[in-house]
Amino acid sequence: MHIVNDLGGKLKEGVKINEPLAYHTSWEVGGPADYFFCPVNVDEVVEIVRFSRQHNLPLQVIGNGSNLLVRDGGIRGLVLKIGDAFSYVEIKNELLTVGAGTQMTYLARIAAEKALCGCEFMVGIPGSLGGAIIMNAGSFGGYIGEKVSSVKLVSLEGETLVLDKEQLSFAYRRSNLLGRGVIVEASIKLEKGNQDESLKKIEYFLAERGRRHPILPSAGSVFRNLPDQPAGRLIENAGAKGMRIGGAEVSTKHANFIVNRGDATASDILNLMDTVRRMVKEKYDIDLQPEVKVIGEEI
Ligand SMILES: Cc1cc2nc3c(=O)[nH]c(=O)nc-3n(C[C@H](O)[C@H](O)[C@H](O)COP(=O)(O)OP(=O)(O)OC[C@H]3O[C@@H](n4cnc5c(N)ncnc54)[C@H](O)[C@@H]3O)c2cc1C
Repeated sequence: MHIVNDLGGKLKEGVKINEPLAYHTSWEVGGPADYFFCPVNVDEVVEIVRFSRQHNLPLQVIGNGSNLLVRDGGIRGLVLKIGDAFSYVEIKNELLTVGAGTQMTYLARIAAEKALCGCEFMVGIPGSLGGAIIMNAGSFGGYIGEKVSSVKLVSLEGETLVLDKEQLSFAYRRSNLLGRGVIVEASIKLEKGNQDESLKKIEYFLAERGRRHPILPSAGSVFRNLPDQPAGRLIENAGAKGMRIGGAEVSTKHANFIVNRGDATASDILNLMDTVRRMVKEKYDIDLQPEVKVIGEEI
């Protein structure tokens, strides 16, 4: 008997059992989630969070899965995906109220079209706003944390809270919101600007991404950059560029990306990550730290 039978009718119908997480991660690898649910509104998030707490069911929140490596054994418990139902942008002067499932690229474009500037750098980051806030995603010198003025969150107790700027802190690819609950919405403060200039920046950033990044499935940068040098350079100089294990390859285009050549497993990627770390440690005595979040169980 599945535990979700205790859920109310509509929610129960929406829960998928043994859902492959390879369908929900940009690396296209990862075993199944025992239970998988995409809420359509905040009430459903509250209900699911309270349910999992009452039943001691581990809860894992995901957005687009573009910074996640799910191990091949999958996830015991319930995966809650904040997706399209939470994709919206409401604009009042320079303040945007944005759903946590909104794509970063969409947000960058819509702001630029309304001549609001400051978030052009988000274009091409293949994450949702919720995931971007948790990761303090950024590029080309900008990062999301500096634009966020408040966050609406369903806490682990199932309470809906609004945290304002003073309660938030962001650092390089980190925020103080990890593990605090489910982000459902945020307000983003931009500045009045020039539509043409913003759209030009967007095109430039997209072209640069196309030039620098591989197109095969990946999770972006695997390791955190060091304060004084990019991890990719260390990996390349250690001789790991192009190295393969199973279907995983250190990208020949950008050494801090590991790409899935089609048939990679999570364990191929993890083994390759270990090899890269070992090679960099041997050559430079530097311990690379993963930027991607590794979750789930081995087979
Ligand atoms: C080709 C490529 C290029 C990339 N380029 C960049 C880049 O330039 N800059 C950059 O910073 N990153 C980059 N990334 C990494 C990734 O896109 C970002 O980290 C992105 O912000 C992750 O968002 P997501 O929705 O995919 O989050 P996920 O990967 O789904 O989750 C990431 C973390 O956030 C948590 N989370 C997600 N949504 C919520 C929510 N609603 N509430 C609470 N917790 C949540 C998850 O539990 C997890 O801990 C790139 C990835 C790829 C594949």
